[in-house]
Amino acid sequence: MSAEGYKGRVITISAPSGAGKTSLVRAMVESDPGLAVSISHTTRMQRPGEQNGINYHFVDTDTFIRMRDNQELVEWAKVFDNFYGTSRQQVDAIQQSGKDVILEIDWQGARQMRQCQPDTCSIFILPPSRAALRDRLTGRGQDGAEVIDKRMSEATSEMSHYPEADYIVMNDNFDTALADLQAIVRAMRLEKASQGARLASTLRALVAD
Ligand code: 5GP
Repeated sequence: MSAEGYKGRVITISAPSGAGKTSLVRAMVESDPGLAVSISHTTRMQRPGEQNGINYHFVDTDTFIRMRDNQELVEWAKVFDNFYGTSRQQVDAIQQSGKDVILEIDWQGARQMRQCQPDTCSIFILPPSRAALRDRLTGRGQDGAEVIDKRMSEATSEMSHYPEADYIVMNDNFDTALADLQAIVRAMRLEKASQGARLASTLRALVAD
């Protein structure tokens, strides 16, 4: 398939913490060389097991504010007391390479991306029930009920924005959710606008007299 003139699309994936977003995105990218994930910048503390430059670019607040004020971020948001943002240069580079770029960002960031790139494909991943979400949030460690309640309330706040997304994927079963996400990406690439750019000369030749 020719990639002439095709600029990669932005796919935002939002989810409450505990919905399985990160594992699903990893599986999507591993199964599809036409996808790349943007690594966000954040001011939050690095968690055990996280690597700078792999999970996030961990920066201090001054650096983040400077990047934001220099228009180096294509979107940014304050999520639960920390700043998060997406590097404009990184997204541009991935799109120019012809790959579609996945942004794992919250509803505020997804809203900004739809505004600045109206052909953004936005997806919300949701858990099958509140009970399942609570189980997943509890299963992560030895946190007390108060901490779990706080996570549940943050998750509810994020989930309340699902109606803004183009697609909703319910992660009841990992393989089914992954297949759903892959189907969305495939359908997005078959949209007329994308095919028109990707197959421009072939399409021209087909209808030439
Ligand atoms: P966490 O700190 O648990 O990794 O992420 C907390 C929240 O911040 C999640 O909802 C995640 O999607 C969101 N987030 C991560 N990176 C970005 C970003 O670059 N921009 C925005 N707007 N949200 C982000």
